Amino acid sequence: MEKIIVLIGAPGAGKGTQARLLEERRGIPQISTGDMFREMKTLDTPLAKEVQEIMASGKLISDDITYRIVRERTSKDDTKGSYVLDGYPRTAVQAEQLEELAKEQGKEIIAIEVDVPRDELMKRLTGRRSCPECGEIYNIYSKPPKAEGVCDEHPQTPLSHRADDTEEKVAVRLATYDEQTKPLLEYYANSGRLTKIDGTGDIEGIFKDLEGVLS
Ligand code: AMP
Repeated sequence: MEKIIVLIGAPGAGKGTQARLLEERRGIPQISTGDMFREMKTLDTPLAKEVQEIMASGKLISDDITYRIVRERTSKDDTKGSYVLDGYPRTAVQAEQLEELAKEQGKEIIAIEVDVPRDELMKRLTGRRSCPECGEIYNIYSKPPKAEGVCDEHPQTPLSHRADDTEEKVAVRLATYDEQTKPLLEYYANSGRLTKIDGTGDIEGIFKDLEGVLS
């Protein structure tokens, strides 16, 4: 059966980095709700304005809006097979909505927790930079680009620092994770669909563990 691979972990746990690798190396499409909302933010519509304000606060967009974009995105041809969700679901309601979607699509859900201790997350997030051109993720402490401030593949493009990766916003995002998303770990564990991997250490090692879970 085709799979919906759900990556769960606090902001900064490395879900995006690992999901990108799954897409690049295994051809499993990465569906990131955060990326989709960031793209939407640039539009000049009332909904885009609302999304922009909520994201800037570190809180979550409504379950129904989020479900709508996930549904629409996963109705495209490239998601006929397995796909990976990075940053979705994040609430109990979203988890229920995803059950419905999985049923409709005839797919099985497997959840993988990417576990990183709290004290490391803040450093990862405040040091995180990304390429606006290709989305590659760097970190000024642990994964710096070859030349300071620019992408290895797009040296003309200055790396950007997410507006919600400041200490103050990160604190709100971590609290939101604890309150709303963490309970999903128990939900998936109770139905025997959760595997935990260690999200510390080098990116390649973590990817190996992830592949191990999927094989
Ligand atoms: P991320 O890039 O996954 O850290 O997401 C950035 C922001 O996008 C979050 O802080 C939320 O405001 C919004 N967002 C992303 N995914 C979701 C989701 N599943 N539900 C609600 N809001 C989300």
